[in-house]
Formats: sequence, structure tokens, C-alpha cells
Amino acid sequence: NLALNIENIRNDFPILKRKVNGYPLVYFDNAATSQTPQQVIDAIVDYYSNYNANIHRGVHTLSQEATDKYEAARKTVQTHFNAAKSHEIIFTSGTTHGINLVASGFASLLEEGDEVIVSALEHHSNIVPWQMLCEKTGALLKVIPMNNEGELVVDKFQQLLSNKTKVVFLNHVSNALGTINPIEKIITEAHKVGAAVLIDGAQAAPHIKADVQALDVDFYVASAHKMCGPTGVGVLYGKEEWLNKLPPYQGGGEMIATVSFEKTTYADLPHKFEAGTPNICGGIAFGVALDYMNAIGFDKIASYEEELLHYGTEKLLKIEGLKIYGTSTKKTAVISFNIEGIHPYDIGTIVDKLGIAVRTGHHCAQPIMDFYKIPGTVRASFLFYNTKEEIDLLVEAVKRAKSMLQ
Ligand code: PMP
Repeated sequence: NLALNIENIRNDFPILKRKVNGYPLVYFDNAATSQTPQQVIDAIVDYYSNYNANIHRGVHTLSQEATDKYEAARKTVQTHFNAAKSHEIIFTSGTTHGINLVASGFASLLEEGDEVIVSALEHHSNIVPWQMLCEKTGALLKVIPMNNEGELVVDKFQQLLSNKTKVVFLNHVSNALGTINPIEKIITEAHKVGAAVLIDGAQAAPHIKADVQALDVDFYVASAHKMCGPTGVGVLYGKEEWLNKLPPYQGGGEMIATVSFEKTTYADLPHKFEAGTPNICGGIAFGVALDYMNAIGFDKIASYEEELLHYGTEKLLKIEGLKIYGTSTKKTAVISFNIEGIHPYDIGTIVDKLGIAVRTGHHCAQPIMDFYKIPGTVRASFLFYNTKEEIDLLVEAVKRAKSMLQ
């Protein structure tokens, strides 16, 4: 039985009870950040009320409690992504941090003339750090093209691969369109030429439970705030052998074994990549968020969200002049659209007046907008706490915006 008890679930999210501009909030900006269940809020309050202390250093009780919970959260993240070892789980401040950590580490592994491959469907945070890497090393950036449906052209990827390819990086799911990319195939092909693969799981992780061992992926990154957790915390999974090859990203306390003015030696994994006091509360709350989502079950979440996607797509397409970007049959519950002759920002502003939160703009994915030759889209992104009734409200609001603006 894949049915969800939506009423119970919605009761877990206090924010869903609030009003915006006099209307009940309809929150469809989940791809930007998800809302937070009471269980996670309670964990945050509990941390600061009862055992706020710095970790790994203190002998006192509070410090040990905080350390134990933080390390237990690491295990929760490890189990969730099925990493072989808990020290392959690095806590970061989010996806952006994880990508920068890896990209900057590759500076010591690349030479002029080496090649790195990105996809046409990326968020800026999985483009810019690699461009910076290329500037530093003289490596060449190549791009897997996309088609009109918003899918990657895998045949072209195969033509780009060679023994010069050192690393391939792309998202599991596109934030602008919702396309689920064929990462299994891409990882297999990249490995045939010895290239490492980094998957940006920021948009996949709230909907799809990735098994990093089954995928055989080298690096997988995600952000807690898109998975019912707090902002400012995320995860970098890295295969032990790769994490050992990369140099530390930041120097400081916590990441060292010994320090003298002559020579410093680095700590073992995961501490080598966790310089300074981390977001302790955030890491613990991230673990609670994963427990929350797993208690609902990712199978149920996926099947319910697919229902929402089909329902919303069908309803919105009935509006004359409305065009959806990203029409792959493999996508998460994201509907990116425009109405002929109307700027997406104007639609977003009017529906907000009716209490509905959507995203408008280029969604930090300007190359995709350039491909479609549009300034941006209106993006409605659903999560398991959304309902068909809310989608009806969106459809009515978009119709109203259309009649006001045309
Ligand atoms: N990659 C993708 C695909 C994203 O959707 C986002 C967030 N919009 C990011 C990276 C960056 O995540 P964060 O801002 O949490 O670092």
C-alpha cells in the first residue's frame, strides 16, 4: 500500500498552517528549500536547550553528548545513502560547499590538456567551481548537450569521453526542469576511461534514495534544507580512495593530527575535510530529517509525488498558451512553465498575492534558459506534503494572472 496519510503529514509541518496575504499558504517552492517538520524543529530546540557544546574536544558531559549525537547523525546519513564506511560521509554546509571541496581538490590532480565534462542541465554551483578549476589548471571543460525535452544526449557524452577525461560532474535531477538523468549509464561509461564522477544530488535526494555503492559513484553531494532539514548543512559522500587522494579544502582546527611551525600532519577521514567547528545542531537535525522521511518511506513519497506531477501537468496544460519546459517521461515533481506573452516574474507576483509560493527566474541554470531562448520560467515544485487541492488553487491563480496580464 503506497498511500500516504497526508492529513497526519501536514500536521507535522507548522508552517503549512500559516496564511500569506490573507490566504492559506500553498508552498510550491520545494526545489529551493523544503519546509521543516516539528520533529526536526524539536531536535534543534533540544540541542540548544539541553546539550549545546563543542564536539570532539571536550571531556565534559555536554561535549560528549553533542559528539555522540553528531556522530550518530553521520551514521544515519551513511545508512541512508548506503555508504560502505562512516568516514566516507563528510558534513558540509551544503551542496555548493561539497562541490567546491571536490573541484578545488582536483587542482592538484589535473594537468594542462586534461578534460572535464559537465552537463548542459547544471545549476551554476556545479558549473562555476569547475570553471575555476579549469582556469587554474589549464584543463578543458566539455559539455554534454541537452535536447528539447530537457534530457541529456547520452550518445554525445560517449563521443566526448577519452583517456584525457579526468572527472565528470552532473546532477542526478535538474533543478530547473526536474529531469532525472541517466546517471547509472554515465557513471559506467566514465569509469571505462578511468574518470571520476561527481553527482550533484541536491534535487534528487528529497525524492530518490540514492545507493552510492550500487551506483558505484565516486562523489555524491546533497543539502539538508531540501530534505526537511535545516539550512547550512549538507553531505559529501566520497569513496575512501578518492577522499584520501584529495588534499584538504580548508586548514584549521579539527582537521589536523599534529601541528608545528615546521610541519603539520592532517587528521584521518572524515576530519581532514571538517576544519573548524561544524554546524553541530544542523548535522544532528539533518539526521532527524532523514529519519522522518525514511519513516514515511521513499517508495511512498515517489509514488504520491508522481501522482501530483501528472495531475498538475494535465491541469496546467489546459490553460491556453501555457508551455511546460522539461517534458521527459523521467522527472521528479517539478513543473517549469511560461505563458505566451507574459513574463514569469509577473505570474509569480500575482500568485503570491493569492498565498501561493512558486519560483520565477532562471533558477541558477542560465544555460538551460539560453537553450530555450527564454529569460526564465515559473517553477512549481512539489513535495510529499502537497495536495491536489493546492494544485487546483495554483491553476486558478495562474488563470487569474493570465486574464489580468493579457
Ligand atoms: N545543485 C542543484 C541541482 C540545486 O538545485 C541547488 C540548490 N538550488 C544547488 C546545487 C545548491 O545547493 P545549496 O544552495 O544548498 O548549496
